[in-house]
Amino acid sequence: MPVVTTRTRGRFAPSPSGPLHFGSLIAAVGSYLQAKTASTNPDAQGQWLVRIEDIDTPRTVPGAASDILRTLEQFGLYWDGTEVYQSQRLDFYQHYFDQLQQQGLLYACQCNRARISQLGGIYDGFCAQHAHISSTEPVAWRLKAQHVATSFYDGVYGDVQISPELAHEDYVIKRRDGLFAYQWVVVLDDFEQQITEVVRGADLLTMTPRQQALFAQLGAPAPSYAHLPLAVTAPGQKLSKQNHATDIRLWPKSQSLVAALTLLGHTPPLAMQQEECSVILQWALAHWQLNKVPKLLEVTAPEFG
Ligand SMILES: [Zn+2]
Repeated sequence: MPVVTTRTRGRFAPSPSGPLHFGSLIAAVGSYLQAKTASTNPDAQGQWLVRIEDIDTPRTVPGAASDILRTLEQFGLYWDGTEVYQSQRLDFYQHYFDQLQQQGLLYACQCNRARISQLGGIYDGFCAQHAHISSTEPVAWRLKAQHVATSFYDGVYGDVQISPELAHEDYVIKRRDGLFAYQWVVVLDDFEQQITEVVRGADLLTMTPRQQALFAQLGAPAPSYAHLPLAVTAPGQKLSKQNHATDIRLWPKSQSLVAALTLLGHTPPLAMQQEECSVILQWALAHWQLNKVPKLLEVTAPEFG
């Protein structure tokens, strides 16, 4: 009989468009704790991988990736294996792109932003029916939606319903500028890296059914999904990497880690809050439960410094 391993594997996947901010720290901590504790096999501790999501090269800031990695280490968040860079995996993505194209599941689209915003931001499939592509204009490639569910189970929010229009949208997997779309390559990466626990910010909640459908297309089981509250500076105000106040490189490390854990529903005991990050993380590993994470879409980030 083959040995069946039940090792769990999670990942943290920052985009290197600036230094790690507090919202990313929440995702790093949550994904780390879930990856390390979700395993039911006492002989195989879970693994936590780091993947640098630098597929969107125009937004990549030189030096940001190594800066993010050093910051993770300062928080005691050490990853398993070597970090992976999406920018070094283009052949792998192209292979699956070609496969979808051969299967007749892609179509070219030249609709502009103005037309799509008139549609309320959700594409209507127009170019699948009306192929009049100009050879002098660049095209985006869209994937025909197939068997996409309109609900899914989330480890934090429970049963989540998605609007059928959004779930069944034919979305772009290769952009007009020739770059593969993040929404698509992230699934190929999770598939290839055999990720079992996807823990990330709630801004990606509604993208989950289309990503699960891609796993079905790849003939693989989808991982478990859990989404964490997004850190904001004020209601509706996203943290900005340009905002100096959110640059956690300048923040006291233990206090920042305690703040992240507190927003995730896991406040360390007062006596432990001045300890080093490694001690605080050990406590968190012993106490982590996804169902203690508040079912909030947004939480207000603290201010230090
Ligand atoms: Zn179109």
